[in-house]
Amino acid sequence: MLQLAQTCEQIAATTKKLEKIAIVADYLKSRAIPEAAVSAVFLSGRPFPVWEETTLNAGGALLWRVLEDLSGRPEPDLSEAYRRHGDLGAVAAEVLPSRAGRDLSVTEIQDRFRKIAAARGPAAKSALVRELLSQITPLEAKYILKIMTGDLRIGLKESLVEEAIAKAYGSTLAQVQRANMLLGDIGQTLELAASAKLDQPTMRMFHSLGFMLASPVESAEEGLSYFENAFVEDKYDGIRAQAHCAGGYVKIFSRTRDDITESFPELPDVLAGIPQDVILDGEIVAWSYLVGEPNEPGRALPFSALQQRLGRKKVSDELMRRVPVAYLVFDVLYTGGELLLERPLRERGKTLDTLLAAARNPVVARARGAQGRLTFDSAEQANNTRVLRAPVSQASSPQELEKLFDAAQARGNEGLMIKDPESPYMPGRRGKSWLKLKRELATLDVVVTAVEYGHGKRIGVLSDYTFAVRDGERLVNIGKAYSGLTDAKIAEMTKWFLEHTIEDQGLRLIVEPKIVLEVAFNNIMKSDRHNSGFALRFPRIVRLRRDKLPEEADRIERAKEIYETQKFHPPMSS
Ligand code: AMP
Repeated sequence: MLQLAQTCEQIAATTKKLEKIAIVADYLKSRAIPEAAVSAVFLSGRPFPVWEETTLNAGGALLWRVLEDLSGRPEPDLSEAYRRHGDLGAVAAEVLPSRAGRDLSVTEIQDRFRKIAAARGPAAKSALVRELLSQITPLEAKYILKIMTGDLRIGLKESLVEEAIAKAYGSTLAQVQRANMLLGDIGQTLELAASAKLDQPTMRMFHSLGFMLASPVESAEEGLSYFENAFVEDKYDGIRAQAHCAGGYVKIFSRTRDDITESFPELPDVLAGIPQDVILDGEIVAWSYLVGEPNEPGRALPFSALQQRLGRKKVSDELMRRVPVAYLVFDVLYTGGELLLERPLRERGKTLDTLLAAARNPVVARARGAQGRLTFDSAEQANNTRVLRAPVSQASSPQELEKLFDAAQARGNEGLMIKDPESPYMPGRRGKSWLKLKRELATLDVVVTAVEYGHGKRIGVLSDYTFAVRDGERLVNIGKAYSGLTDAKIAEMTKWFLEHTIEDQGLRLIVEPKIVLEVAFNNIMKSDRHNSGFALRFPRIVRLRRDKLPEEADRIERAKEIYETQKFHPPMSS
């Protein structure tokens, strides 16, 4: 582990990509294959390969207490070090007593990680972490904690580790990338590269592939400026979900690659009815079923409705009835042993139609309809539908797009997704083959009430702002935003906040409520995170409103108004 930690120091010391790759490649070649394989996983900033989905469940607070214990330093010292470094690993290197260490290998360290993951409860986990940290040097502790918290912060992404593997073992980058994507295991990919067997891997299901992402466009004209004919779908406001279905077994992954199957117990049985092994891509939304009206379409509801269904391990029948969900499927990535990523969307779409039409459970297939308007054969079917093919239209003029956009908004959806029918599926990429056209977002003028020190390149500056709206004479917090201002502005504001601090709470400063910001956001949710009872989703600072006094900031009533309008949409147009 010591060699790996030293290598990480070298990688951090250069900003040049090629040098970083060369350092990693040299290191990997110098190790035996099993050691190099585990190192590749660690260098990607993870304790375990992606497909395993094992998590340590040893969070920052637990690690913080162990560090406090082992260093014998008081909390303010640690807070002060954290402010300077913005990183728990770097704090460890500074505060832990220097010792020789037992020279544990990376495979041994990974075994320890497995024990920590398997231990039940914080006390058992803390004991194992403490034992590990007291057997290694502070430099090793630095990188072990970084791996445990999932971020090395040495300017090395998994894609650079892939390049280093290609360089170290004389294979092409494309071969390495493909094997890593199929296996979800950069360590195993390294083993195949080292034995010249990169052409061998077959798809390992049940680990998430990267999601293809969309670029924003500002207008219908821009929406057709990259390709002439477009496939157009509604942009549903739910959560992105990749479903893996094989042999009657189903797993659903979120965009953060977490397994979210348990949150949606109504979906696996329906998905298991698809006769082939498949990987599907789509959006899970809260769904409004119109009971007893077979010719009336059901429709997707905004994110605020889905919110109550998220992050739950156990979902009651009552909740499933009150907030039903549907999975709107818009792509297929794999079926019957074949990866379809390189096929054009046009073909993947046809394959998807055929697959869903053949599903054992007819509720998958028999919803028909034009864009967003789905009709069902019976009320029973309408009320049982759980998995739907997202309707697709075509557009080749901005006017057609405008019409589709208005219809999508009238249905209460966020806007449109505009897709190039000839495009392959590019996991993890945000290109110009998928475009998103969204509605204008509302903004709020808010008052900054508290500030925190940032991470990464924002170490030592107050870059995270908690802000509030007015509620009568009081200010009530409604959100927290991390970015949006230039570095120069943040530095200037840091000085102001330090001079206007009311209470220093360590990492957080309560400041005089004088600064007004305009913030944009995607959505307002009910939440008990802030004392306003609301939280903004994806808040971004648009600008400082030096021209406004705190008394002129928005009131809670305005936030409620926005919340209500996103909840109740106008009736659907035909
Ligand atoms: P954004 O989150 O604003 O970057 O927009 C991209 C997201 O829109 C995707 O990650 C999906 O979660 C979501 N989305 C909703 N409807 C669709 C659709 N028809 N096709 C692709 N993505 C969609």
